[in-house]
Amino acid sequence: MRQIDHFISGGAGSTGTGRKHQIWNPSTGEVQAEVALGDASLLARAVEAAKKVQPEWAATNPQRRARVMFKFKQLIEDNMQELAELLSSEHGKVVDDAKGDVQRGLEVIEFACGIPQASKGEYTTSAGPGIDVFSMRQPLGIGAGITPFNFPAMIPMWMFGMAIAAGNAFILKPSERDPSVPMRLAELFLEAGAPEGLLQVVHGDKEMVDAILDHPDIAAISFVGSSDIAQYIYERGAANHKRVQAFGGAKNHGIVMPDADLDQVVNDLSGAAFGSAGERCMALPVVVPVGEETAERLKEKLIPAINALRVGVSSDPDAHYGPVVTPEHKARIESWIDTAEKEGAEVVIDGRGFTLQGHEDGFFVGPTLLDHVTPDMESYKEEIFGPVLQIVRAKDFEEALRLPSEHQYGNGVCIFTRNGHAAREFAARVNVGMVGINVPIPVPVSYHSFGGWKRSGFGDIDQYGMEGLRFWTKSKKVTQRWPDGGGDGSNAFLIPTMG
Ligand code: NAD
Repeated sequence: MRQIDHFISGGAGSTGTGRKHQIWNPSTGEVQAEVALGDASLLARAVEAAKKVQPEWAATNPQRRARVMFKFKQLIEDNMQELAELLSSEHGKVVDDAKGDVQRGLEVIEFACGIPQASKGEYTTSAGPGIDVFSMRQPLGIGAGITPFNFPAMIPMWMFGMAIAAGNAFILKPSERDPSVPMRLAELFLEAGAPEGLLQVVHGDKEMVDAILDHPDIAAISFVGSSDIAQYIYERGAANHKRVQAFGGAKNHGIVMPDADLDQVVNDLSGAAFGSAGERCMALPVVVPVGEETAERLKEKLIPAINALRVGVSSDPDAHYGPVVTPEHKARIESWIDTAEKEGAEVVIDGRGFTLQGHEDGFFVGPTLLDHVTPDMESYKEEIFGPVLQIVRAKDFEEALRLPSEHQYGNGVCIFTRNGHAAREFAARVNVGMVGINVPIPVPVSYHSFGGWKRSGFGDIDQYGMEGLRFWTKSKKVTQRWPDGGGDGSNAFLIPTMG
């Protein structure tokens, strides 16, 4: 059985609990590897290694730091196929989708290559008589990232790309469900010329997370995962005087106005609701047609499109989506469909009990369409995180605007319309962090920043872009005056001249 160890100071380093976590191959239902779970003593070793290397890295000029990022970017591109296949074999998403996962992380590395420009401070001359003011951004020291299973390449790179470029050392605690790609990223980062100990990977569950939250030498924590845990991380990390950003779950709505291009909407929903088996925090699992007529027309077009989706193993190049991550998650999704049915939703297309011929033990869930879902249903209020699309009918624009605005989550939302005024009004008023206008998955590009609202995001600084740089640095402001010396007009401090 393949064993996955921690990555401490540039090499493997098991100590600690002796406990292990099984890594599935979701397409076959077999256990393919085991990952070691660490504890506080293992973390302490990683922190000591980080402390040794971080001051020198912070003092390294930004163009040299950028060179490591450039080299890392090249290595990822060279290894894209291997990374994507490894990712897809543990996560279950199809290989093309896995390449997208790597690519979106890589884009943040590309942004981090611009660290010399991004980290320049501000300067004002003669802010008072003989007084100049300048500000600079200094690294925090050691940062940590705790990441979810669903983007095992992208989210770690969002975090460590910015943190390390800014001069910090970084300790990553990836999801214990698919840890191999984060490990490969750490190896490639070393190969790119980073010093040992700058990027380390510790594996574990709550025990390791608590050790990170309590370690006095970890200055900042970035978390992405489910909301209850995000809140816990935020509160305990902040109580320990750390800077914390913690991003949580989501239930993103797609509002369909009567004038929308419904063929385009159906095409977009096929990807946004079912791609990656719905295991995306920016998926679109709720569609809100405005008006009964829009709802009926949309449903009529959705049914054949959903029935045509092909579910397959993650290596199947023709599959629309693959299995979900674990057998527990498959059971959880199916139980949400049971709940929705009991609550009175109409199960239009039922993905429960789906099996893939030849892969009967894989964790597949068929595409599911639920209609007449209402805001009081638990299956609407909570995140399902599977290939399940819910139709919530709204009578008019105001009701459609209220649904995502009043939902506990506020990650992403999209409005489909041809009416510029409606779109503009919606974007201005909706109580959600990331808005798409005819863009179903509005993940901002790497030079903007990413962050949801309400229970989708605790803390007030976003991921990546200039916000990422702000998160991983503190600003220092210097006000200076240089006296001219004598006071007798003789200019005691002579200004050196050339030659
Ligand atoms: P999860 O919350 O189960 O795990 C996330 C991390 O927390 C993992 O590293 C895990 O080891 C750790 N963890 C798990 N239980 C813990 C506990 N009791 N105490 C401390 N740490 C614990 O999330 P997941 O299932 O891996 O990922 C899916 C979730 O992440 C979904 O809710 C999804 O919406 C969310 N997500 C959000 C975003 C975003 O940007 N808002 C992005 C991706 C995923």
